[in-house]
Amino acid sequence: MQPIQDIFPLLGQPKKVVITTHQKPDADAMGSSLALYHFLNQFGHQVTVISPTNWATFLSWMPGSKTVLDFESPNEKANIAIAEADWIFCLDFNTLSRTKRMEEKLMAAKAQRILIDHHREPQTEVFAYGISDTGKSSTCEMIYDFIMTSGNEDKITPEIAECIYAGTMTDTGSFRFPSTTASVHKMVAHLKDRGLEHSHVHEELFDNFLENRFRFIGNVLLNRMEIFYEYNTALIAIPQTDLVKYDMRTGDTEGIVNYPLSIKGIKLAAVIIDRGEERKSSFRSKGGFDVNTFARKYFNGGGHFNAAGGFNKEPLEEVVAKFKQAMKENVAQLSSYQF
Ligand code: 5GP
Ligand code: MN
Repeated sequence: MQPIQDIFPLLGQPKKVVITTHQKPDADAMGSSLALYHFLNQFGHQVTVISPTNWATFLSWMPGSKTVLDFESPNEKANIAIAEADWIFCLDFNTLSRTKRMEEKLMAAKAQRILIDHHREPQTEVFAYGISDTGKSSTCEMIYDFIMTSGNEDKITPEIAECIYAGTMTDTGSFRFPSTTASVHKMVAHLKDRGLEHSHVHEELFDNFLENRFRFIGNVLLNRMEIFYEYNTALIAIPQTDLVKYDMRTGDTEGIVNYPLSIKGIKLAAVIIDRGEERKSSFRSKGGFDVNTFARKYFNGGGHFNAAGGFNKEPLEEVVAKFKQAMKENVAQLSSYQF
């Protein structure tokens, strides 16, 4: 993988470009994709953003989201764009399997694949160019760096600023995680100078939920959460019947894993959701417990040191049993937590 700077001299030559990200994109995945989309369009490139799956409705306000193709909806456009692309940008993921059914098409494409990402253990051999930096708060921050270091500060529009802000704000837990460096705050100040209306982004992301989601969360916290104080751990296991009963849609369960972390003493929080075709898990930790390694070892997943996820094919009860076993195996690290 050659350094990302090597493509800077080529930015001025119009190309067919595809931008893609991980399945069920979150605000960082969608924000970084759309920020790059608006940026590259200014050079006259022909740019197509493709999501491997559908995405949450709370992202549909993002400037440009109406143009994004869903690879799973029956439409030849995405396949043609991938086959004909010169460049395929892969944002906010680092192993092609995170694109589900798109993986095969991405591997077969003649395009050069370009990585911009902040997760651990990248599959560098499949990328021609790229940057992988686990020290970065978000892929959105990396898109900002890409624009700035390629000497294109003047191309940051209010639309780009909103997209970048949305991903950085959400990936840093509203600027609270340790990944929120001085550079992040300086970037936000600069985005404000470039026309960012940050209150608008917060309202769009956090004040647009339907009542049923809060009823669902009430049910989950009351009936589905188990606390294991001797392990400083909380587990929420959600059966598919709950998702159906409360009419949960893509994105409605995002953020639930963070609730138990607000309980005094909790160091590891896990949510395991029965999504029918698979059991999706999310892990969050505080301090020195590495959930990336934990998710890789037990749950076919990965991510960051303090935020990771995975999936299993076994029934929910078996995945829950697996989690409890894994928790016991990690008792030394989990129980030694200092507050
Ligand atoms: P979430 O819990 O929000 O789904 O994911 C937390 C973090 O872990 C995100 O950065 C996400 O990209 C990563 N992640 C989630 N699921 C998986 C997975 O199955 N495999 C890998 N490698 N990373 C994941
Ligand atoms: Mn991210």
